[in-house]
Order: sequence, then structure tokens, then C-alpha cells
Amino acid sequence: MVALGKNDLLGKFMPADNPDFIQVKSGIESDNEHYLRIEAAKAWEQMRLSALPDNIHLKLVSSTRNFDRQKQIWENKWSGQTAVNGVYFTEHNPDNTTKAKEILKFSAMPGTSRHHWGTDIDINSVEEEYFETPKGKDVFRWLKVNAPKFGFEQPYTAKSDARPLGYEEEKWHWSFMPLSKVFLRNYMRQIEYSDITGFNGAELAEQLKVIPVYVFGINSLCR
Ligand SMILES: [Zn+2]
Repeated sequence: MVALGKNDLLGKFMPADNPDFIQVKSGIESDNEHYLRIEAAKAWEQMRLSALPDNIHLKLVSSTRNFDRQKQIWENKWSGQTAVNGVYFTEHNPDNTTKAKEILKFSAMPGTSRHHWGTDIDINSVEEEYFETPKGKDVFRWLKVNAPKFGFEQPYTAKSDARPLGYEEEKWHWSFMPLSKVFLRNYMRQIEYSDITGFNGAELAEQLKVIPVYVFGINSLCR
């Protein structure tokens, strides 16, 4: 991999135009807008195929998201166009710090998402309810046993003494470690709060300590 610059770490590029990325099969018919870094894409495809004989159907529901896409997600929640944990915000309610903390239970500030890196994927559903169904439980069980064989780990494990900070558990989010460890190291070295800007609520990034709490508040296997 070539040296990583700030734009790679902050998601400021178009995956379709970046030669380090390739389009991947999501496993969902006619859903072709998924890109990953080449090594992560190969590992995903191998994992998807190897699950089939076990009657486990893995589908990508999210892959690389650039800064602009994350900004759209974040600001739709901020402005009340998208519900946040079941609630639609209004302009003055709740206050901005509460808004940011609520959104941060499951969504990253633009510039701080692992989805910018082209190494991380969401599998089958981004709802905990799905993973409570018999099918969802089978999928999660299969991933816990098998995903590490393909280089994938779950960064947002259940909150515990070992992972007290950061996002709530995401059973759908898996990270291709051989690459994402390199990205995390580079992120810690290169990115400062002055780089996290350009969206509603960006001024709260430092106060909420988003770099140590959310970027680094992950499963220790992912560091
Ligand atoms: Zn995710």
C-alpha cells in the first residue's frame, strides 16, 4: 500500500475513481454500488462464498462511505430528516451536545468513520433486532467463529470493562484487520481536531473527545 495521506484517512475521495479500490458484489441482486480496497474486497468475496455451504447468506449493506456520504447521514440526523434512536430532532431540541452524543451512539462524525478507509463493512442489517432473530443469531455466530479466518474482526463489541467507551455494540460491522490496523495507526499519527470540520456540530469534536473515545474506543483486537 502506498503512503496514506490525510484525505485517505478522512474519506475525502471518490472510491470509484481511486485505483486502490474495486467494486464488490454485495450479494444483493442489482446492488452494485459497493467499493472496497482491493485486499479487503478479495477477503470479503472469499468469506461470502465460504459461508454459502453452511447456508449462511452474507450480504453487504454498507461498505466504503466517503466524507460527503457520511456528512449526509450525519446532517440528516442532526436536522431531523432521519430519526435518531427513534426520535426526530428539531432545530433547537435537544441542545447540540445532546444531539451529537445521541447520534454518536451508532453513527460517526464525518472524518472519523472507519467506513472512510475502505476496510470496513456492514453485513446483512444495521438493526440489532435482526441479530435477535434466529437467522440473525446464526449469522452472528458464524461470523464470530469464521470471520477472523478471513482477516475480519468486530471493532464495536459489547460494552464492557475491556471496551467501556465509544459506539454501542454493532454486530453487523466487521473490519479487515490487515489494512485497518495500518489506517488506525496513521490516523492517530496524522489527524488532529482541526482536520475534523465542515459539517453541523463539528465544533463539538474536541469537547466530546471523538478521537480517543470513538475512533480508538474499539475492541482491543482491532488496535
Ligand atoms: Zn458500519
